[in-house]
Amino acid sequence: MKSLSLFLHLSSALGSTTPSLNQRSRNDSCAAVSTVHLQTGAKCACSKLATSYPDFMIFPGSANYTTQVTDYWDVRADLDPACIFLPTSADQVADAVSVFTTCQAQFAVRGGGHMNYPGSNNINGGVLLAFNHMTDYQVHNDTIDVTPGMTWYNVYSALEPYGRAAIGGRLKTIGVPGLTLIGGVSYFINKYGFAMDNVVSYDVVLGNGTQVIANATSNPDLFWALKGGANNFGTVTKFTLKTYSMPHISTTIQQFNESAVYDFITATCNLVLADSETTVAGGSVLDITYNVTTGDVAPLLLGVQEGISNPPSMFTNFTAIPGVSKTNNVTTSKQWASNLDSPKQMFRVLFGMHAMYPDPNVLYTMYQTWKSAIDTIADVEGLYPTFVLNISPASAARVAQTNGIGNVWGLDDEPLIWWQFSTGWANAEDDLRVEACIHQLTEHLHGINKQNGLARDFIYMGDAGEWQDPFAGFPAENVQRMREIRGKYDPLGTFSRLNWGGFKLGV
Ligand SMILES: Cc1cc2nc3c(=O)[nH]c(=O)nc-3n(C[C@H](O)[C@H](O)[C@H](O)COP(=O)(O)OP(=O)(O)OC[C@H]3O[C@@H](n4cnc5c(N)ncnc54)[C@H](O)[C@@H]3O)c2cc1C
Repeated sequence: MKSLSLFLHLSSALGSTTPSLNQRSRNDSCAAVSTVHLQTGAKCACSKLATSYPDFMIFPGSANYTTQVTDYWDVRADLDPACIFLPTSADQVADAVSVFTTCQAQFAVRGGGHMNYPGSNNINGGVLLAFNHMTDYQVHNDTIDVTPGMTWYNVYSALEPYGRAAIGGRLKTIGVPGLTLIGGVSYFINKYGFAMDNVVSYDVVLGNGTQVIANATSNPDLFWALKGGANNFGTVTKFTLKTYSMPHISTTIQQFNESAVYDFITATCNLVLADSETTVAGGSVLDITYNVTTGDVAPLLLGVQEGISNPPSMFTNFTAIPGVSKTNNVTTSKQWASNLDSPKQMFRVLFGMHAMYPDPNVLYTMYQTWKSAIDTIADVEGLYPTFVLNISPASAARVAQTNGIGNVWGLDDEPLIWWQFSTGWANAEDDLRVEACIHQLTEHLHGINKQNGLARDFIYMGDAGEWQDPFAGFPAENVQRMREIRGKYDPLGTFSRLNWGGFKLGV
């Protein structure tokens, strides 16, 4: 979606700080910026960083280069950066960003490496800043400080001895930074809101290398913008997350076969409708996998609820459906996540999603259309198609509406299904076919839902395809406010012009 051969035309002066920022700029001197080519910028930045941090730099041909450039969930995201910097502290991150801006070097940032499209978290010929070495944390009474190399499993493991949990990813190895900056769907959104709603403070490196804190009292506008605004404002070096007493969770794993699909979809709609008034925190992973080789269709529920009521009471609608297997357990967030790995390099994989008001009949027709569309590409090697039903209850939206802070999404107070196609496949030669099929199908179904009044504009960055524009689905006034905040905190355009990847706010 974006050409990496972009030439930059920055004429702004470096190092000019915004007066209201809380800390001093690292680049107080002004320097003229000339147009710099991708290679020239990378050469400058790689050389400066290698001089300052020789032990934390990796270049093509060195022993760990391949390990680093394949540390991605989606094989399509494996690219070839000119060099890789693995900082160990916020100060080093600040130095690096300062170098990127000074050199006009194009760069990408990687946390857990799960965002899945080429260039979302990696870069050909530029600099990759990867957070693998920043895995420190500190547990406080009702918060935890988390650095951006941590996965959610790391967070749940850190909190388990205290009988507490944070509001984060549903699978084991998803990174904290990417998920938290784009919003973050946990099992417990119905009661506690999204992951972003549970961040009480961010430590941020701005484009000029300045380090600032964004919270309710310090840079509150930036604090708001980081709640769903992704990587458009700075690089976050620490998240302070709320934690909740949750020594145990009650879980259910229920597998069904094709004859249960309609009831499964109906139970999903009922779950998000009923969940809107609940006081029990709980949620799910719900999907339907289609094996084109065997013809098997497998609906799956992973249900989680706080507490020890066994089986978890929220999922009785599913329990009533005859299934292949049903397993209930009382466990901890750490133990539960430990079994839910999402291994890197499994496949090439494309997402695509839209939001709609829950309607089981329409969703069932969508399921049938999806299955027929998948049949048309059934010869694609390694095809792994999944129809995902994420639930966004009205109560999840209400958290931001009532907490005095809000977030950039501005979701209305209504239950939604975020339906998603996740499609894996094996070979690059099939990229265009799979992408065209899924892109067309996703927008076709959304178009029908627009006509029947069920569609909503909201697009979740964590479930979206690379062709989609989540910002177009946020309230226009929020997008305008984000642009103003970006202009204030990143006047040099470091995160809009030099930092590749993720979903960018645009001009
Ligand atoms: C298997 C799987 C399961 C998932 N499950 C969930 C789920 O349960 N809930 C949910 O909400 N989402 C889920 N997602 C979506 C997931 O939240 C996003 O892919 C998210 O971006 C992953 O975060 P990460 O740190 O691993 O990603 P990365 O790919 O490392 O980063 C994502 C984006 O954030 C930027 N970034 C990373 N670190 C920083 C930083 N410190 N400062 C500024 N920008 C940064 C990167 O440059 C990139 O653009 C899932 C995705 C996958 C593939």
